[in-house]
Amino acid sequence: MTNHDKTASELGPEMHALLRRLFPICRSLAGPGTRETLAVLREHVELDVVEVPSGRDVYGWTVPREWAPHGAEITGPDGQVHARFADNNLHLVNGSVAVDADMSLEDLLPHIYSLPDQPDLIPYVTSYYHPHWGFCMSDREKQSLTPGRYKVRIESEHFDGALVYGEAVLPGKSEREILISTYICHPSMANDNLSGVVTAATLYRLLAARSERFYTYRFLFTPETIGSLCWLNNNETGAVRRIHAGLVLSCVGDEGTFTYKRSRRGDSQIDRIAARVLGTQDSVNDFFPNSGSDERQFCSPGFDLPVGMLSRTYPGEWPYYHTSGDTADRLSPDVLGQSLDRVSRIVDGLEQAAAETYVRTNPHGEPMLSKYDLYHRQNLRRNTDADTERSQRGQMMWLLNLADGDHSLTDIAERSGGDVETLRTIARTLMQAGLIRPLVEMSTPNAAGDR
Ligand code: ZN
Repeated sequence: MTNHDKTASELGPEMHALLRRLFPICRSLAGPGTRETLAVLREHVELDVVEVPSGRDVYGWTVPREWAPHGAEITGPDGQVHARFADNNLHLVNGSVAVDADMSLEDLLPHIYSLPDQPDLIPYVTSYYHPHWGFCMSDREKQSLTPGRYKVRIESEHFDGALVYGEAVLPGKSEREILISTYICHPSMANDNLSGVVTAATLYRLLAARSERFYTYRFLFTPETIGSLCWLNNNETGAVRRIHAGLVLSCVGDEGTFTYKRSRRGDSQIDRIAARVLGTQDSVNDFFPNSGSDERQFCSPGFDLPVGMLSRTYPGEWPYYHTSGDTADRLSPDVLGQSLDRVSRIVDGLEQAAAETYVRTNPHGEPMLSKYDLYHRQNLRRNTDADTERSQRGQMMWLLNLADGDHSLTDIAERSGGDVETLRTIARTLMQAGLIRPLVEMSTPNAAGDR
């Protein structure tokens, strides 16, 4: 059986194997870790690696310098070694500057981060934008440090280079795009966010194997926040304007139920479809800007893209979030397969909706229905009582209003309280009258247009 014959939920073991391979790499916003990660992903995804030079201004943010960590450790007065980077890259504050010093425990302690409430776990701490150094260790280990002189060594370099992100496009019949975005800046943690990375990479393979795609699919593997801002900046007048729907994948590897965070618009097509695909035990939440991932950039007011976010347990609420407890062993292949299945069902929902989505030929104002003999059209009235006629005319008005390329007949039925079968009949009548066109037929290149 080739990979192409496998269903999404059967691909869990391969996803888990890829996750294990990516796990040891020490990633950061910019540096060899992200490049190495993209090099591995290129075995699975036809990625273009885009470089954005250090120091470039992006909407008021500055693209960081590259960070290359080589080693770090603390040696205690008794000769015991603590927080060795080679043992776990979370031991070093991500972005730490180089240090080679001898110091007292008192001077060292402000540079040591631990989690008193989870005393066996190493926290994940970053310092990207200010020169700083620090170590992370379990609180149990921190408490065991005895007074005396400590030798502190961090070998790392910051240098002008580039932030890199990966981008892959699978063309469809339409120029309108579905964006799948996930982040590659976190070091050795499995759920956050290698789960999102392997889900996106495997979805790419599934979609690449399809003989037909209506939408064009764009996959982004970026360092969080600054990376998605770089992509938005590079594509402001191009791909950004062609996005029909998008999904950010964050923390889709734990065993929790699914959480979908709606786009800022709140009622874009992907919001409606995700709500239908998720089960009753899952949660669908309105957009909020105070935590989350790159949906906050895509949904900033200057872009306001129809991009939602899918997670299992919402990031930050999972007990092992941003700790050394977020290991590959804690994630099961089955769960990863289920997450991929859920994402591919959302994509299928978008593709199916496109086949039953219409666009007004002249969208300005209501059409003058009597001119088209539609105001008292016989075939809408035959064998129907006055109430049904009113309801059918009501549904026709809904269809004419929501034939905007963004609402399928299912969406319209949900909104109008009507039924899809009746709407199909009405759609045929309106097409014969030349008032609407199917989205799929009109979507030859350029006709889809910038919206
Ligand atoms: Zn995170």
